[in-house]
Order: sequence, then C-alpha cells, then structure tokens
Amino acid sequence: MVRANPVYTSQTCSRCRVVDANSRKNQAEFVCTACEHTAHADVNAAPNILGAGRPCQPVETSAPAGLRSRNP
Ligand SMILES: [Zn+2]
Repeated sequence: MVRANPVYTSQTCSRCRVVDANSRKNQAEFVCTACEHTAHADVNAAPNILGAGRPCQPVETSAPAGLRSRNP
C-alpha cells in the first residue's frame, strides 16, 4: 500500500483541496474552513489518500542473489 501521511490527508478538504488543521474539528468530524464542506473525517480523507503519495518508481530493495552465482 502507498504510504500517505494520515494527518495531512485528514486536514485536506476533499472538495476544495484546502489544507487546514482547523478544518479537523475532532477525530471524527471534518468541517472545511474554506468552503464549509462537512464530512466524517475518515470519509473525507479517503479520496485524499487515494490521490496522494503516488510513487515515482517502484523501489527494489532486494537484489536477486541468484544472478551472481551463475558463473563458476
Ligand atoms: Zn473545502
């Protein structure tokens, strides 16, 4: 799964994309300070998480070890 900052996305309005910590009223409620869009915080954050944090390149952390032992 793509990593996205849950705090950042939870402060981003899914309608107007304004990021404001004050939009997050509490753990469950999101009320945008810019456009007054209101949503359950988790519901509002969901499309933000889907649209954020796209990786540029897939990172290979493990090199295939079998390639080196091919030559005697
Ligand atoms: Zn908004």
